[in-house]
Amino acid sequence: MRYSALRIAYEALTGHKGWTPAWRDPAPKPAYDYIIIGGGGHGLATAHYLSKVYGKARIAVLEKGWIGGGNVGRNTTIIRSNYLLPGNEPFYEFSMKLWEGLEQDLNYNAMVSQRGIMNLFHTDGQRDAYRRRGNAMILQGSDAELLTAEQVRKEAPFLNFDNARFPIKGALMHRRGGTVRHDAVAWGYARSADSHGVDILQNCEVTGFRIEQGRIQGVETSRGYIGAGKVGVAVAGSSSRVMAMAGMRLPIESHVLQAFVSEGLKPLIPGVITFGAGHFYVSQSDKGGLVFGGDIDGYNSYAQRGNLPLVEDVAEGGMALMPMIGRARLLRMWGGIMDMSMDGSPYIDRTPIEGLYFNGGWCYGGFKATPASGYAFAHLLATDRPHETATAYRLDRSLSGRMIDEKGVGAQPNLH
Ligand SMILES: Cc1cc2nc3c(=O)[nH]c(=O)nc-3n(C[C@H](O)[C@H](O)[C@H](O)COP(=O)(O)OP(=O)(O)OC[C@H]3O[C@@H](n4cnc5c(N)ncnc54)[C@H](O)[C@@H]3O)c2cc1C
Repeated sequence: MRYSALRIAYEALTGHKGWTPAWRDPAPKPAYDYIIIGGGGHGLATAHYLSKVYGKARIAVLEKGWIGGGNVGRNTTIIRSNYLLPGNEPFYEFSMKLWEGLEQDLNYNAMVSQRGIMNLFHTDGQRDAYRRRGNAMILQGSDAELLTAEQVRKEAPFLNFDNARFPIKGALMHRRGGTVRHDAVAWGYARSADSHGVDILQNCEVTGFRIEQGRIQGVETSRGYIGAGKVGVAVAGSSSRVMAMAGMRLPIESHVLQAFVSEGLKPLIPGVITFGAGHFYVSQSDKGGLVFGGDIDGYNSYAQRGNLPLVEDVAEGGMALMPMIGRARLLRMWGGIMDMSMDGSPYIDRTPIEGLYFNGGWCYGGFKATPASGYAFAHLLATDRPHETATAYRLDRSLSGRMIDEKGVGAQPNLH
C-alpha cells in the first residue's frame, strides 16, 4: 500500500478501514539466501537496500525482540556529516545524501528535519581545530560555516554568554545536520523491506552458528534452525556476544549511554547544540521536550540502564551551557548499549569465516550512519567487495595499524 495525501483523505472519508499492517508476521522458512541478524536500523536498512537496490531475494531479518527495541529507538536522533578524516567523512556524507532522499525512497514520513548543528568552541585552539574540520567537510561535499560568538548569540540567545567559566567564542555550524524521528526510521525500513519480499522475524533470537569446514551453513535460533547462504551480523551493542558464538573475539567493548527528555516546552532550541567544554548536547523534539545527553557511563555493561554519576555529569554540562535548563523538569531517561570500537570508528567487513559478514563498532554515532551502513553492508553482501565509501572499515585495522582515530584520543573507548 502506498501512503499519500490522497490515501489519507480517502481513508478519513471511509472510516479508516483500508489500512493494512505495515509489515507481515511470517513464519521462518527452512532456509534463506541472506540472513541479517539484528532488526535495528542497520539490519533493516541492509535488508531494504539488498532487496531494492541489489535485487536480491530470499532474505530474512532475525530480531530477538521487536523492531525498534534496540538503539535505533533509544538514540537522541541526531544526524550529521561533520567528520574530519578521509576514512570517515565520505561515508557520513553519503549517509546524509541518503537521509535527504529517504522519505521518498521509503514512501514513509521519517520526519527528517535538517535544522542545523552548532558545535560550540571555547578556546582559540578549538576554533583552529573546527576550522580544519570544516574545511575537510567542504572538500568532501558537505557544508560548514564558522560562526562568531555574536552570530551564535543571534541563533541561540539563551546560552550562557555572560558568566560562563568557558566563554563561547563561536561555533562550527553544519546546516544540513539535524534530527530524524528514530522509530520511524526502523518502521519505514521494515515496511519497505517487507514490501520487497523480506521476511522480518521478530522474537527470533540467534543462539548459535552452524559452521562447517570454515563456511557458514545457517543459524540456530529460538525458533529453530534456519539455513543460510550468507549471514550478516548487525547487532550493535550485542556484537561481542553474537560474534563470540562464531568463535571470534572483537576489538569492541559494550558500554551504556543514557538519554534524557524534559517536559514539553514552547519552541526554544533552533537546532542541535553541542557544548565544546564538556560532553553535553541538546535539541528539542517536535513535541517540545528537550532531548539531551552526554558521555557514556564508562564501565562495561549489557544492561540497558545507566547510573546516577553520569546523570549528575550531564546535568552539570547542561547547567554550564544554558543555566535555564535547571528550571525544566526531567520527564524520562533511559540507556542503550553501545558497541564501542577502540578508535571510535565502525567495521563493515567480511570475517575469516566464509559467508559470515560483520557490521558494528558504531559507538554512539551509529544512528546517523543508518542509511549508508545499510547500503554499504548490502553492497558487501551482494558483491563481496566493500562499498567505495566504506573501504577503510576493515576488521583487521587494529592489527595492520590503520586506525581511524577521529578524535585523536587513541585506543580508549571511554574517550570516543
Ligand atoms: C542514548 C543513545 C543516544 C544516541 N544518540 C545518537 C545520536 O544522536 N546520533 C547517532 O548517530 N547515534 C546515536 N546513538 C547511537 C545509535 O543509536 C546506534 O549506534 C545505532 O542505533 C546502532 O545500530 P542499530 O540501529 O542497528 O542498533 P539496534 O537498534 O540496537 O539493533 C541491534 C538489534 O540486534 C538485536 N539482537 C541482538 N542480539 C541478537 C541475537 N542474538 N539475535 C537476534 N537479534 C539480536 C537487538 O535486539 C537489536 O534490536 C545513540 C545511542 C544511544 C543508546
